[in-house]
Amino acid sequence: MTTKLKLDGATRRLALSYLAIIMLLSVSFSVVFYNASSRELGRQLPPIAAFQEFNAGNSGPGNTRSRQIDEFLAQRIAEGRSALAERLIWLNLLAVAAGSALSYYLARRTLEPIEANVEAQAQFVSDASHELRTPLTALQTSNEVALRRRSLSETEARELLRQNITEVTKLKSLTDGLLRLATQSAGPPVLEPVSLQDGAAEAMNRVINLAQSKQIAVEDSVAATSVLAQSTDVVQIVVILLENAIKYSPAGSTVYLSSSVRGRTGSIHVRDTGPGIRPYDQRRIFERFYRADQSRSRQVVEGHGIGLSLARKLAHRYGGEITVASTVGKGSSFTLKLPLAS
Ligand code: ADP
Repeated sequence: MTTKLKLDGATRRLALSYLAIIMLLSVSFSVVFYNASSRELGRQLPPIAAFQEFNAGNSGPGNTRSRQIDEFLAQRIAEGRSALAERLIWLNLLAVAAGSALSYYLARRTLEPIEANVEAQAQFVSDASHELRTPLTALQTSNEVALRRRSLSETEARELLRQNITEVTKLKSLTDGLLRLATQSAGPPVLEPVSLQDGAAEAMNRVINLAQSKQIAVEDSVAATSVLAQSTDVVQIVVILLENAIKYSPAGSTVYLSSSVRGRTGSIHVRDTGPGIRPYDQRRIFERFYRADQSRSRQVVEGHGIGLSLARKLAHRYGGEITVASTVGKGSSFTLKLPLAS
C-alpha cells in the first residue's frame, strides 16, 4: 500500500517534469515564432522613409493620403501581431491540456515496469519470510520444550542437537536458494559456447551422492552439442533437474539424461520414472515456492519450491526455456532448451 502511494507520488512528479519540458519547448517555440513572424509582418510595410521621400515631392492631399496609408498599414500590422499573440496563447493553453494528459500517460508507461518490479520484490520478501518462519518456529519450539524440562540426559541432548543441525541445514539450503534467486538478474550474461556433454557430466558429479543414497542410476547419452550460455548456469540448471528427478523417483530406479537438436535449439532432457505431475501442477511448478500436493504420493520429499523457478529464470537469461511433459504414475521429462552456439 505504502509502495503504491509512493509510486503514485512518483508518477505525479515525473508527469510534472514531462509537462515542464513540453511547456518549455512549446513556449520557447512560440516566442521565436512570434518574433520571426512579427518581423516578417513589419517587412511587408514599405519603409516609412520611402513614403516620406515620396511625399516630399508631392505636397497637398497626396501627402495626407500617404500618411493615412502609413497609419492604416501600421494598424493592420499591430492587429496582425495581437491576433498572432492571441493564437499562440491559445495554442499554449491547448499544449498544457494535451501535454498534461500525454505526460501522465508517459509517466505511467515509464513507471509501470518499475512498479511491477517493486511489487515482485515485496512479494518475494514476504514469501521468503513466510518460508523462513516455519523452520525457525520449529527450531524455537523444540529448544524451548527441551529447556523447560528439569533434566536432560546426554542422549536426549545429543538428539536435540542433531535435530537442530538438521533444521539449520534445511534453513541454509533455503537461504542459499533464495540468495541465488534474488541475485540472478544482475546485468546481461556473457555468452560462451558451452558443451552440453561437459555440462551434463559436471552436473552428474554433483548429484552422485544423492543418487547413490537412493541407489538410483543415471544413464547419460548427451551428445557433444554446444549451446550459447554460461557453463556455470547450464550446470546449475541440469543439477536442479537431476536433483528433482532423483528426489521424486522411487529408490532403485533409473534417471535418463539425453540431448537433441532441433533447428537452432539444443536441448537436454532429464527423464524419470517417478510419480509424475498432474496437468494442473505442471502449469504451476515453475512458480516460486510452489510445491505440488504430495499427500497422495507414498513418499514425502523435502523441498522449498525454489529449484524450478530458479532454473527457468536462468534459462530465460539466454533466451532459453524449460518445459515439462509428464504422466501421473509413469514419470516426468524436463527439457532445457538453449540457442545453439553455431
Ligand atoms: P522443490 O523440489 O524443492 O519442491 P522445485 O521448484 O524444484 O522445488 O519443484 C517444484 C515442484 O515440482 C516440486 O515440489 C514437485 O511437486 C514438482 N516436481 C519437480 N520435479 C519433479 C519430478 N521430477 N517428478 C515429480 N514432481 C516434480
